[in-house]
Amino acid sequence: MIRVGIGTDKHRLVEGRPLILGGVKIDAPKGAMGHSDADALAHAVTDAILGAAAKGDIGTLFPDTDPEWKDADSIELLKASVRIVRDAGYVPVNIDAVVHLQEPKLGPYKAQMAVQLADALGITPDMVSVKAKSGEGTGEVGTGMVIETIAVALIESAS
Ligand code: MG
Repeated sequence: MIRVGIGTDKHRLVEGRPLILGGVKIDAPKGAMGHSDADALAHAVTDAILGAAAKGDIGTLFPDTDPEWKDADSIELLKASVRIVRDAGYVPVNIDAVVHLQEPKLGPYKAQMAVQLADALGITPDMVSVKAKSGEGTGEVGTGMVIETIAVALIESAS
C-alpha cells in the first residue's frame, strides 16, 4: 500500500538567530524564531511523513512547552518520526518540498539539504526534492517577516 501526507510550517524571521533548513546552516541576514532550532523545512517534512501514516503531528509529539525539545536538532525529531512511521509498518519513498523565503537564494544549499533529509529518512538524495520560491517582495514572505514551507511525502508498506 502507498499513502501520501502533507506538512506545512511557518516561522517568524529575526536578527540574531541562525537559519537552519533541512539540517543545513544557511548564511542569511535573519534566522527563524522557535523553541527548537526552528528548521522549518525539517518540520514540514516531519509532518508530511507523520501525516502519511496518520500518526499525529510534530506539535503533539514534540511539544514546544517541553524543555526536552528546547533548541532541539530538528533532524533528530525527523528521525524519531521516521521510527514511528516504520513501527507502523511503512517506509518513506520520496519527498517534494517548497521553501518560501525572500533571501538568500537557496540554490547553493539544495543538494546538501537533500542529502541531510534523505539520510534522516533512510532514502537516497535523488528521492528528495527541495524547491525554493521568493515572495516577489510582497506579503509576509516577500518583506522578510517569515519563512514558510510545504512538503509532500509518499510512504509505502515495508516489505
Ligand atoms: Mg516549525
